[in-house]
Amino acid sequence: MFPRTAFTITVNPKIPPRLKRLEELANNLWYSWDRATRTLFSRLDPYLWEAVGHNPKAFLKRVDESALLKATEDRVFLATYNSILSTYDSYHDASALQNNGGLSSQDQVAYFCFEFGFHESLPIYSGGLGILAGDHCKAASDLHLPFVAIGLLYRQGYFFQTIDSKGNQQVTYTISDFDDLPVTPVLRPDGSGLQIEVPLLHRQVTAKIWQAKIGHVTLYLLDTDLPENSPQDRYITHNLYGGDRTMRIEQEIILGMGGVRALHALGIKPTIWHINEGHAAFMILERIHDLVQQGLDFASALESVAVNTVFTTHTAVPAGHDHFNTEMMQTYFDAFYRSLNITREEFMALGHASGSPDFNMTALAIHGSRTHNGVSKIHGGVSASICRDLWPQIEPEENPISYVTNGIHVPTFLAQEWSDLFDRYLGHEWRNKMCDTEYWSRIDTIPDHLFWSVRQSLKSQLFYGIRSRITEQNARNRGSEAHLDRLLKFVDPINPNVLTLGFARRFATYKRATLLFENLDWLRKIILDQERPVLLIFAGKAHPADVPGQDLIRRISQVASFPEFEGRLLLVEGYDLRLARRLVAGVDVWLNNPIYPLEASGTSGMKAGINGAINLSVLDGWWGEGYDGKNGWAIKPGPEDMEGTVRDQEESRALYEILQDQVVPLYYNHGKLGYSPGWVKMAKHSMISLLPSYNATRMVDEYVTKFYRPASGKGALYAENDFAGAKNIAAWKARIKQAWHGVTLRRLDAPCERIHFNEALNFKIAAKLNNLAPEDIVIELLICRQFKTTRLCNFDHFKFAFTGIQDSGEHLFELKLTPELCGKQEYFIRIYPYHPLLTHPLEMGLMVWL
Ligand SMILES: *Cc1c(COP(=O)(O)O)cnc(C)c1O
Repeated sequence: MFPRTAFTITVNPKIPPRLKRLEELANNLWYSWDRATRTLFSRLDPYLWEAVGHNPKAFLKRVDESALLKATEDRVFLATYNSILSTYDSYHDASALQNNGGLSSQDQVAYFCFEFGFHESLPIYSGGLGILAGDHCKAASDLHLPFVAIGLLYRQGYFFQTIDSKGNQQVTYTISDFDDLPVTPVLRPDGSGLQIEVPLLHRQVTAKIWQAKIGHVTLYLLDTDLPENSPQDRYITHNLYGGDRTMRIEQEIILGMGGVRALHALGIKPTIWHINEGHAAFMILERIHDLVQQGLDFASALESVAVNTVFTTHTAVPAGHDHFNTEMMQTYFDAFYRSLNITREEFMALGHASGSPDFNMTALAIHGSRTHNGVSKIHGGVSASICRDLWPQIEPEENPISYVTNGIHVPTFLAQEWSDLFDRYLGHEWRNKMCDTEYWSRIDTIPDHLFWSVRQSLKSQLFYGIRSRITEQNARNRGSEAHLDRLLKFVDPINPNVLTLGFARRFATYKRATLLFENLDWLRKIILDQERPVLLIFAGKAHPADVPGQDLIRRISQVASFPEFEGRLLLVEGYDLRLARRLVAGVDVWLNNPIYPLEASGTSGMKAGINGAINLSVLDGWWGEGYDGKNGWAIKPGPEDMEGTVRDQEESRALYEILQDQVVPLYYNHGKLGYSPGWVKMAKHSMISLLPSYNATRMVDEYVTKFYRPASGKGALYAENDFAGAKNIAAWKARIKQAWHGVTLRRLDAPCERIHFNEALNFKIAAKLNNLAPEDIVIELLICRQFKTTRLCNFDHFKFAFTGIQDSGEHLFELKLTPELCGKQEYFIRIYPYHPLLTHPLEMGLMVWL
């Protein structure tokens, strides 16, 4: 070939005026839950729609003019287009924004997260955390909450996964053209792009602000890949969870500190700040810095910032909490903490967690927020225990870490077939009844055969999708046609009557993807039965640095290649939102077997449950609450201190027994109907019990009621009169900390061991308050009838009253109590600091027991 230059030119179609608003539809992630919109695009050119990975904006830049012109003549297309626009407009109608989702019109939530997953067309997510954040935004939009979100716009995002014939995970990155993504630059009035500067070491890094629309909600994304920046700095926002610690700390500084600067540049003044996982916690420092610049002292600024900050932790192992070593913190924050007028020690203490000298982002997030939560009941307890040393004198079960159980955005994950069926059987109003448990029992009125036909149809669609993915995988790995036939033997969309189990999630070792292979002989007996075959489908990514996680993929691939398992056990590559939607809707059983109590919540099982798939899971995370005895199957975990291999044996045994004795027989109990009535009954009950409780509307609503509203109220209270409240509480806390070591209790009345019913007891306490006032403290008696219980939550609480008497440095307190119950009862007496402006009564972490 002769040397020559290849010139390129891109020809974009001209969108005909009648279809002009397709561009608007392509620029609002509303399409990520409105399936009709996605179908509309795909109808213009189904092949191109696949080729651009279901990305409406990329699609509109490439679709042939002739296809658009044809559509303007197509009455059916136009009717659908108009009906979608009318739904879109009524969803966005500003006059419908009456109640702000329970907040006031002055309120503004700013939600920070390292990743966001809305749809496969915006690849800035890795997995569960991002998708949860996406669902949070979607539900905030549905609820008309005044809400903005802050994240990073990754040039490459997370990796794309392929798996070779040996089971090795291959990692590829694609560079996004931001013009193809549903994002637009935020512009200044003069038309130039809005940018901010973030100081990093001795330089200023410029970040451009982009926006994405998620219904009513705006997500602002920061991007440092700009010509103004050095090559290294341009790289900061390239990869999600890639790079070294330097890359990570710089990303977190851009997100946290840059995010606050971006909101400032946008003129947005949040009244509630939500940190979703520790990565974004540096925002606390930037906000404190702003207040110190205004003249506030550090301690008052910290109180003022923390009081309207909400922190959600998603990690169940201490090692999973993000942390940076002290040298690194010193390097990056040396000048910064000086500007706050605090010492290095005071600064490092903000990120101090026991057991390590490192600066811990969870500790920073907790020190800088006044409401903190885990993401399921079990995880709330685990987090309280992990972080116990942040409230050193408080039992973990009483410390301020609570929980809000995760939920999923139903319109995103509910298959179209179900919403059509709900429209017919429940009426269109089901969309507004998301949390109405009573209402959803109407699913029982859907005739079994219709319910089953939806299930079968979803499984067929899954099988079509799996066939094409496995075909592609096999071709790339140079497998033969005969090999492909063997692989696809049981994946028959025409006759999908094979019990199908799905297991798809991140391949982290604690999720134990290979638990099912503990006893291969037993597994063979269960799944190779001629009459009652079982199909297993696996999918998921392992982090490129997680070697044991990648070993799990190899092990699955190896077992899948055993001749007897070929076709019965499939490993599908490239797990993403699209494959997840298909899988959760199409399989019969959703399997999850993590090591208790390491699954913070898990959400994929909720997605499966609302689509009529039945959960078979370890009682951990959300399933610990979701399981009611009749809506699926539960593997009861062994005790926490059980040795790992013993636990695996025990729990895999329980898994085999459930499969062999319950799941398989129930599924194949067909009779003449062609389906199992018992199965349909359980699937219906599973939908009825899970849909109204594990959806994102319930979750966001709970955040509003429990955290957002109180945080906003206290925030205003702390800030008014030039931060009088914040100063007051900061000074009070300093005084308490000074005095607390000298606070003691002494009992004056003689303990009486036996009384008769209705007799009163008169408790008398002398307290040394070490210069504190009686109003600064609470003295409390806790009593419980269950003798020897260790659960403090089972105790009744009674407060002592100050008698007004002071005697040689002691204050005298009294409590008259007539026990209401008979029997032997146990009681305790304690003192802790108290101030009405506190968010949580025990937030100081100080307490003395008698
Ligand atoms: C829902 C979802 C997850 C999270 O699933 P878990 O049950 O929390 O492991 C991860 N990845 C994708 C693509 C999902 O849709």
